[in-house]
Amino acid sequence: MTTNSTSASVQVADFELSEELQQFRQQVREYAQQHLGGAAAYDAEVKFPRDAVAAAAKLGLLRTTVAKEHGGSAMGNLASCVMLEEVNAVCASTGVTISVHNSLVNSLLGKWCSEEQKRRWFPKLTTGEWLGAYCLSEAFSGSDAAALRCEAKKEGDHYVINGAKLWITTGSEADLFVVFARTGPDRVKGISAFVVERTWPGVGVGKKERKLGLRGSPTTEIVLQNVKVPADCLIGQEGEGFTIALDTLDGGRLGIASQSLGIARAAIDLIKAHLATQVDPKGRPNASQPDQWTLADLASDLDAYRLLTWRAAVLRDRQVRCSAEAAMGKSCASRLANRAARAAVSVLGLAGVSGRNAAERVLRDARITEIYEGATDIQRLVIARGLLTP
Ligand SMILES: Cc1cc2nc3c(=O)[nH]c(=O)nc-3n(C[C@H](O)[C@H](O)[C@H](O)COP(=O)(O)OP(=O)(O)OC[C@H]3O[C@@H](n4cnc5c(N)ncnc54)[C@H](O)[C@@H]3O)c2cc1C
Repeated sequence: MTTNSTSASVQVADFELSEELQQFRQQVREYAQQHLGGAAAYDAEVKFPRDAVAAAAKLGLLRTTVAKEHGGSAMGNLASCVMLEEVNAVCASTGVTISVHNSLVNSLLGKWCSEEQKRRWFPKLTTGEWLGAYCLSEAFSGSDAAALRCEAKKEGDHYVINGAKLWITTGSEADLFVVFARTGPDRVKGISAFVVERTWPGVGVGKKERKLGLRGSPTTEIVLQNVKVPADCLIGQEGEGFTIALDTLDGGRLGIASQSLGIARAAIDLIKAHLATQVDPKGRPNASQPDQWTLADLASDLDAYRLLTWRAAVLRDRQVRCSAEAAMGKSCASRLANRAARAAVSVLGLAGVSGRNAAERVLRDARITEIYEGATDIQRLVIARGLLTP
């Protein structure tokens, strides 16, 4: 029997985005050009990009991970990755605001909340009337999230929450907080997840962090003092919080991987624009070979890690567990963002360190992608666990 290599039964990977997603990407590119021109000013003035986020909401960028029956566009994780690369290539502060809202709050509520809970919160979250924040980290629990101490005590028909959450993205702007708190002594099974609304008595915004990068994205402490949380604001079951936190982070890491791809692309574009000015007397490209090698390696890695990230996003859209794949995307893309940003500063020389050029902001923004939503070393442990667990 002969085999035909073009047989329809041979399944090949399709590396093209659907027409719908290509159109969506173009729409987001136009949004970024029209609304994110203030990226340098948001950074310099440490100013939240409120108008840019409002325009994103208007375009439907704050509802991509929500089902249609709850006011979302149900476009999913791959579409969110495509969108976040475009936004972050221009403004990483706006990018992380949208990423957290979609991947750490909306996705979590969509997957773990009851119908009644979804009907209560999605109308505000999908329109951008409310922004969401994800409150896991504390003073003594970052990488070791199960060490959290914030406490939720059941008293009749409500819980009383006491504690302080640190380094919360969008903390000062958010109206809805997903809060992880201790409801029992077991390190892992003693953690539960709650929705806490900003206006409830005892909810306060504490100190705002002064950061290396992402300065337009406010990162704050959230203080919870005797906050009475109705029992129907518990997400999932009591004791399910840690599972919810980790599952959600798989999606969050796709967002930060895409942010990293956008930042890497911004850096590569700066290098390309700079090298394009170096021409010989006849107008032919004349950049040094080492600079061309740098550009070639960075551009190749950008393509490779985008595919790695999109593969994980497709798995998550198919509801297949993708912890290791998402960690591969995040760890590779975030390291690339840092490498590309360092290269941009080097290749541009004096212009690279000048505050007048985007390269130095891109370098500062890139650094954080290797820390939050799981530091690079933690991602490598997640990948190794995936490889070693049968
Ligand atoms: C800008 C920004 C925004 C953030 N936003 C949020 C948010 O919205 N919500 C939220 O809950 N948190 C948020 N965080 C917190 C973030 O998730 C934590 O910073 C992160 O989990 C790392 O925790 P840590 O900073 O305490 O570092 P640590 O846990 O102290 O780790 C420091 C370093 O030690 C190494 N390390 C630690 N443990 C291990 C280990 N077991 N094995 C190997 N190496 C290890 C890692 O290399 C790591 O880089 C944010 C952080 C930043 C910087």
